[in-house]
Amino acid sequence: MPVLPGLMMEAPLVTITLLQYAARYHPTTEIVSRSVEGPIHRYDYARCYARTQQLAHALSALGIAEGDRVATIAWNGYRHLELYYAIPGVGAVCHTINPRLHGDQIIYIVNHAQDRLLFVDLTFVPLIERIAPQLTSVEAFVIMTDRAHMPKTSLRNALSYEELIASKPETFDWPEIDERAAGALCYTSGTTGNPKGVLYSQRSLMIYAMNICMRRSFGYAATDSVLPVVPMFHVHAWGIPFGCPLGGAKLVLPGAKLDPESLYELFESEEVTVTAGVPTIWAALIDYLRRNDKRLTTMRLLAIGGAAAPRAMVDAFEREFGVPIVHGWGMTETTGSATDTSLAPLEANLPYEQCLNFKTKQGRGRCFIDIKVIDEEGRDLPCDGKSSGELCVRGPWIASAYYKDEAASKAAIDAKGWLHTGDVATIDPRGYVQIVDRRKDMIKSGGEWISSIDLENLACAFPGVAEAAVIAKPDPRWGERPLLVVRPGEGKNLAAPDILAFLATKVAKLAVPDEVVFLQEIPHTATGKIAKRLLRQQLLENPRRAAG
Ligand code: ADP
Repeated sequence: MPVLPGLMMEAPLVTITLLQYAARYHPTTEIVSRSVEGPIHRYDYARCYARTQQLAHALSALGIAEGDRVATIAWNGYRHLELYYAIPGVGAVCHTINPRLHGDQIIYIVNHAQDRLLFVDLTFVPLIERIAPQLTSVEAFVIMTDRAHMPKTSLRNALSYEELIASKPETFDWPEIDERAAGALCYTSGTTGNPKGVLYSQRSLMIYAMNICMRRSFGYAATDSVLPVVPMFHVHAWGIPFGCPLGGAKLVLPGAKLDPESLYELFESEEVTVTAGVPTIWAALIDYLRRNDKRLTTMRLLAIGGAAAPRAMVDAFEREFGVPIVHGWGMTETTGSATDTSLAPLEANLPYEQCLNFKTKQGRGRCFIDIKVIDEEGRDLPCDGKSSGELCVRGPWIASAYYKDEAASKAAIDAKGWLHTGDVATIDPRGYVQIVDRRKDMIKSGGEWISSIDLENLACAFPGVAEAAVIAKPDPRWGERPLLVVRPGEGKNLAAPDILAFLATKVAKLAVPDEVVFLQEIPHTATGKIAKRLLRQQLLENPRRAAG
């Protein structure tokens, strides 16, 4: 049967529309940034759009055209936001680079992406100077500052951002871009093998932005003030820089200062209502709030993602500080999150402790997202809350392939379009997903699987534990045994037997670790998660330190 075409206009879903909308209807809504140079910078959507148009002229003058890749290595700040819009606006691809990646990885991804320009924040100039000779595709480096703050630099063709855009007109005639065109690029942090490029289409970014503006998700509105702690250099700060203009919300960009005191100062002075970040950041904030007897007086929603939210953390925010949380699961390949824990009334009206059970799960799939778990043979498992298997997802903001990497694409995406995530999970009959572990972090002891995430979350509930990590330690009898690593809170004196006795009341005997290692610092990955590979190297290849 031939298709009867609908008779509606085909206005393309492209990201520049979001900023145009905000500039038109929320022109005086503020964007506040803690600048790398020091002072707080304030302007509004109208000014942001005017400067974005100047930047678009500058990009065009440098020869940037449709499909070109332009890289950024920068904190959350207003210039970065302008790049977020101007680059895809001219049809190019904004490639955000995580500065915490190893230098070799940055070289690999810039060369793999064939970035033509690199915009760099002052902080990262020395980092880029060290590797610049190997960034063969980069024609010019733009330092994101004004003339007065330009450093002496060995970077070839170094330009200052402000000088670049200064004399350009404040209106730009945007080209018509196909919504399926790539608009952004981000590489996974490559814990195994080389980083893989996830190439977001303009359409996927737009659909994602609309989805997070729904009330069940973040529900950004003109009454909100939103501070993304999650960095704009990794998975575009979970889409917040796109969702906020769409909702007409104020944006507060924290720059380089991500310590709890600096964040708290902005939360209060800018009357922040919504924030988002990884558990590591929130653990430090809770500690700060408690030690200084502070409250979050304007916050209506705090999002936790990127790693499992420990029950004790959810409880602290919800009960002790009265801040509702939303917990979501996602990965670079899923644009931001594919699930979130906005509870249905059936769960939300349960007694507090039971309700908390659901809030610490990773939530239900968002509309448009298909989600399932499969066994080792690839067969679908039942959604019974018990059967655990690899989590697979599919939908309009999920990667369908990796950029210029056929082998990795083939390995991760199957013929029916499902992305195999490498995470092990259960799904209950109501659709709540619970991540059991990353496949490679599960511990197999005496033939039984033990979840490192479970143990970590439980250990975090022990008074005085600031952070916990569990890794598999090879064991001649059991194959592997869980090893618990604990960072005590400031000034806390903890005893291993007390923690182990506490865990013994919570999990099966087999899952109780045999030993605890106390560390003053637990290493983190470029995305702020516990660096388990490094921990394994540090503790298992140097057993002198593994006493406890
Ligand atoms: P990378 O893989 O580069 O570390 P990603 O941001 O892509 O960075 O990480 C995605 C992974 O993070 C997921 O596959 C999952 O293992 C973990 N993750 C993300 N959110 C959660 C969550 N809410 N609970 C448990 N694990 C999570």
